[in-house]
Parts: sequence; C-alpha cells; structure tokens
Amino acid sequence: LMELTRTLIEIRNILKTIKHDGTLQLPSIVVIGSQSSGKSSVLEAIVGQEFLPKGSNMVTRRPIELTLIHTPDSKEEYGEFPQLGLGKLSDFSRVRQTLTDLNMAVPAEECISPEPIELRIYSPNVPDLTLVDLPGYIQVHNRNQPELLKQKIASLCDIYIREPNIILAVCAADVDLANSEALLASRRADPLGVRTIGVLTKMDLVEPTAGVDLLRNSDYPLLLGYVGVVSKQRKARPGSKAVIPSGDAYFSAHSEYTQRDLQVGTSYLKTKLIKVLEENMRRSLHSIVDAVQTELDETRYQYKVHYNDRPISPESYAADSLDALKQAFKQFSTQFNRAEVRASVKGMLEQRALDICARLYWNDRRLADLPKASSDDLYWQRKLDLGVSSLTKCGVGRLSTQLVMDVLKHNLEQIVKIEPFPHHPGTQRTVSTFANDILRRKFHFAMDQVENTIKPFKFEVDCTQQEWEASVERATRLVEREMDMCARALRDANTRIGKRTLNTAIRYLEETAAHTTPKRIENNVFRATSAAPLPNAANNGSATATNASAAENDDAAAAPQPLLNPAVLDEARQAMALRDRLAILKLRHTALRSKQCRDKRRRIHCPEAFLEVVADKLTNTAVMFLQVELLNEFFFQFPREVDSRLYFGLDKQHVLAFAKENPRIEQQLELMSRKRKLEDVMDKLGYVMRQQERLAV
Ligand code: GDP
Repeated sequence: LMELTRTLIEIRNILKTIKHDGTLQLPSIVVIGSQSSGKSSVLEAIVGQEFLPKGSNMVTRRPIELTLIHTPDSKEEYGEFPQLGLGKLSDFSRVRQTLTDLNMAVPAEECISPEPIELRIYSPNVPDLTLVDLPGYIQVHNRNQPELLKQKIASLCDIYIREPNIILAVCAADVDLANSEALLASRRADPLGVRTIGVLTKMDLVEPTAGVDLLRNSDYPLLLGYVGVVSKQRKARPGSKAVIPSGDAYFSAHSEYTQRDLQVGTSYLKTKLIKVLEENMRRSLHSIVDAVQTELDETRYQYKVHYNDRPISPESYAADSLDALKQAFKQFSTQFNRAEVRASVKGMLEQRALDICARLYWNDRRLADLPKASSDDLYWQRKLDLGVSSLTKCGVGRLSTQLVMDVLKHNLEQIVKIEPFPHHPGTQRTVSTFANDILRRKFHFAMDQVENTIKPFKFEVDCTQQEWEASVERATRLVEREMDMCARALRDANTRIGKRTLNTAIRYLEETAAHTTPKRIENNVFRATSAAPLPNAANNGSATATNASAAENDDAAAAPQPLLNPAVLDEARQAMALRDRLAILKLRHTALRSKQCRDKRRRIHCPEAFLEVVADKLTNTAVMFLQVELLNEFFFQFPREVDSRLYFGLDKQHVLAFAKENPRIEQQLELMSRKRKLEDVMDKLGYVMRQQERLAV
C-alpha cells in the first residue's frame, strides 16, 4: 500500500513539471491556519524534525511544497531543495535557515509570493506524503500587516484548497472555532466537508471535558472529523510549575480522551493523513489515467505533425550545427584556390604599377621622346630603376598578406551566417574571434616571409622572351583599360555639365591660362576618377565622343562668354587633364604595340611592360609563400579550433543553452520532454492500476 502512495507521489511530482490546464493533478494535503495556531508545530511533529522557520513576524511568505519520502532501509534523514541543487542537508537547522532565507528574499513590499518552495525530506520516520504549508492567516492588522496583505494570503490559500486537494484546517483549541479563518475558508471551498480534516492544536490548554466537546464538534461537522493534538513545546516557559505531559502522552494521561470515537494524537493524525491521501489518490486514478492518455495522444500527434517523429537531443543538434559549420568551411577552403589569391594580389600590384607609371612617366613632358631614346640613355634608365624599386619596396609583404587576410575574414563572415548560426550570435562571435586570433598570430610571420623572399627582385629582375611577350600583351590591356576609364570619365563630365558649357569653359581656360600654367594631371585626382567611375558613364564609344565634342567647338566660339561658375571651371580643368591623359595613353598604347616593344632588351622603352613583369614575379613569389604560411595553416587550424573551442568546450548545460537559443529546437525539445514525461507517468499509472487489481482479487 505504501509503495502505491509513493508511486502516486512520484507521478504527482512529474505532472507538476508539465504545463497543463489543471486536469493532470493528483491530490495533495494543504495546511491552512491562522498565525500562531500551531501549524508549524503540527507539521514538525509529523516530520519528527524541527525544520520550519520560527518567529512572530510573518515567517512563511511562500508556499512550501513538502514531499516526504519514506526510506525504510536507510538510517539517513535529510532534506533537499531540488530547485537549488544544494545537495543533501542532514542538518535540519540548515534546512530551516534555507527556508528562512528563501522567505526573507521576498521583497517586503510584496509581502508574500505565490512561487512555491520545493522541499523533499527523506527519512525512515516519515510516511509518504505530500503537504503544502501556506502562509498563516492574519487576524490583527496593524501598520505592519495591512489589509491588502490579509487578502493576498487568503487568495493564495484559496488557490491551493481547490479540488482535488485535501484541506488540513488547523485551529487552536483555546480560540473560539467560530472565528477560525481556516474553517471559514475550508467551508467555502468544501461546503460538505468531505475533504477537510480539522486539526485542533493546543489541546492541553483546554479542560478535557471542553476538549471532548470540541472534538465531537457538532456546530461545524466535518465528514473526516477533528483530530486533537498536543505538540511538543519548544521552550519550557520560565517559571512554569508542574511538568505537563506533552505530545501523545497528554491524551493517555487524561481518561476523558480514551473514548473510542475520539481522534487524538500526532501518530493518529499521521495514519489518518496517509489513509485519506491514499483514498483520494485512488479515487482520482481513473480520471487521471484518462486525462494523461488524452494529453499523451495530443503530444504524440503534435510531435508527428511538426517534427515527423524525428528525435533530437541538444547534443545531436550542437554536433549537427558544428558539422554544418565545418562543412561550409571545407567547401570554402577547396573553392578558395591559389588562382584566386593570385588574381587578387596581382590586381593589387598591377594597380600599383600603373600608379607608378602615371607618376613617373605619363606626367613627364619628355615622354614623347622616349621611343627615340637610345637603349643606354641614362635618364630613362634611372627612371626605370626608380619605377622598379618603387614597386618592389611598396610593402608587398604587408599588402599581400593583408589582402589575403581580408578575403579570409570576409568569407568567414559569410560562413558563420549559415543556418542555424543566426540563432547563435554568441557562437558567431566566438568563431570570428578565434579565426581572427589564428590570423593575427600568423600575420607578422607571413608578412616577413613574403618580404624576405621577394628581396632578390629589388636588385635584379630577369625574364624569358615568352614572359616578356605575355607582359607586353597584359600591359597593353591595362593601358586600354585606363583609356576606357578616362574616356568614360570625360563622357560623364559631358553629361553632367552639358557638352556646350564644358567646351566653353575649356576654351576659356585655354585662352586665359594656357601660357602660364602647364596642364598636369595630379596622380591622386586621376586615381580617384579611375577607382570610382560614375555609374551612368558606363556607355560606349569613348574616342568618338571626344572627337564629336571637338567638332562642336566652333559654334560656341562666336557667342559672348557667360560668367562661368567655379564648379564648372573645376570640371573643365579635370576634363582637360583627362583629355591630355587620354592622348598620352594613346601614345603609350601605340608604343606598346610597336615592333620595338617586342624585344625584351628594350625594357626602358616599355616601362609599363617591364613593371608588369616585375608585378608578375612578385605576385608568384608572394602567393607561393602566403599559400604555405597563411592559407594552409589557417585551413588546417580552423576546423581544429572549432572542435576544441566549440565541441569540447561545451558541457551538458552549455549544450542545452546553445540548443535553446534556436526557438524551433527549444520547442521541439520541450515537446519531446513532455512526451517522455507523459509516457513515464503512463507507465507508472499502469503499474499502480495493476497493483490495485491484484489487491482487489
Ligand atoms: P504557527 O504560527 O501556526 O506556525 O504556530 P507555531 O507552531 O509557531 O506555534 C505558535 C505558538 O504556540 C508557539 O509558541 C508554540 O510553542 C505554541 N504551541 C504550539 N502547539 C502547542 C500545543 O500543542 N500546546 C501548547 N501549549 N502550545 C503550543
């Protein structure tokens, strides 16, 4: 029999952790009573331990859900707060202290809190019972106990004394029962008195004859009757004379109480509670089996519909997520090939080479003489040396390493955005952080290594005829690209300002300032234009556009000069510079395509091609070392960091927290746990039902 109650209590505790509409509830015993009615003393007498907070000032501010677990085979007695994880508390004064702390943590302005404290007590001396201790009703309300508090306590108790719970209404025998808040409240919740047990405390304070009358109470009859108790008094009152027999001995000492129909004593009360709870549980059994089955069917259905019965665990989810990350990374690392790195480093160095050409050659007024210069012309020889050293000393190590790192970082940012990581911003940050850490650790070494290996090119660059021809070809394309950009920028200026206005402004500038200021294009101005060509300038035919605008010039010449605004003049200056640059580029284009340039010994005549040779050599060397020192290392280390920092760095609790960051997974886990719990309850209920049938036979 005991075992059945135990199983039912277990079931009750599982059901309590499942959200439901109130149908999945097994009865427990709730204890109500006025302050100082002796409620705590009764509970402690049942448990056989002093564990409840004492004090005159509102010590119970939260419901205490007390589960007593009978452990016949163990001598150990201890309490446990499952919500706190403090472990076994064998010293009951620590249980009391913990309860006091928990109660006092309720802010004074709230006075009481409906949040229950769970406490389990394991002992060979307790029966299997579930009891709820509630804040005591207050009668007197002074300034410290306002009317509102009285109502708060009453409504909290009202929630607990609903069906199917059993009410233990505690009243002091020496106080008029008509004034008992506990009896008034229980009568409202249970008018027929079928699930209320009256407990009369402090029976030692009334004359036995009066006490017998109280126990046979006919004014407020209860089906389960009244039980009289004398609780062991904590402190013998100073100066008290006779030794009053306390506890159950009191009743044996008074013959009035030996009549058979009277219910007296704590042991009697214990037995009664077990019996009543058991009967009530058994009575609820069939309806609870039905309710749990319905709930389970519904949960299974939901699980099938939403998740196709696919099981998941926080661990499997975390493992799958990290696999997805590693997979995405692997894909990226195989796609991120050397050719791509090479192309971006090469592009960067070519731009440098063009900038050097623009600075050293395209602004040089002697450039027109270059094709006719002799091969040992010192002026052009020196220029070329300067160009080569500018390129080799432009910080190839830093630039190329930075470039590759930027590409890696950018790609990683994309990788951590894959599903399900948008749900896990913390993990995204962790990944970015350790990826950056790896890169930062490698940066200086890779940079120095590249810089070291390109050193020879600072002194000597040689190439084969084949390499030379390829470079001439490439330089020609680059010059063509520059020409396109100039033409586009010019066309764009025409559309922006209007062809006529622009030409007028140019003519004006030529007439007024032509003789004094040499028209030079500033390299940075040009770079600004070529780096960001305006979007509407993306049209065709650059050369024809400039020619056509030249043809229009004559018409405007006769008209009187309008007053030109400075912005237009700026545009005109810029346009003139572009026009000149275009003319020079055309010259260089012709030179690069001339027979002269096909000879690799004529490098001083074809600086664009020779710098292209240098850029190419620098690129090949830099990329080779970046591949080894940066990319290979990074591709090797990243997945290992994922393993060590994300897989193994996570304990069970972290894994669960991680999974719950994803709302979909959280819901799925919740539903799964609900299903598991209901199945467990169903199993246990099945066991109880079978035992019942066996007992009935
Ligand atoms: P609670 O406020 O309802 O929890 O009441 P307590 O259990 O703290 O008891 C209030 C006071 O009544 C305490 O001083 C107890 O010692 C005293 N008391 C409790 N039970 C008895 C009893 O059976 N007889 C006598 N004489 N005093 C009791």
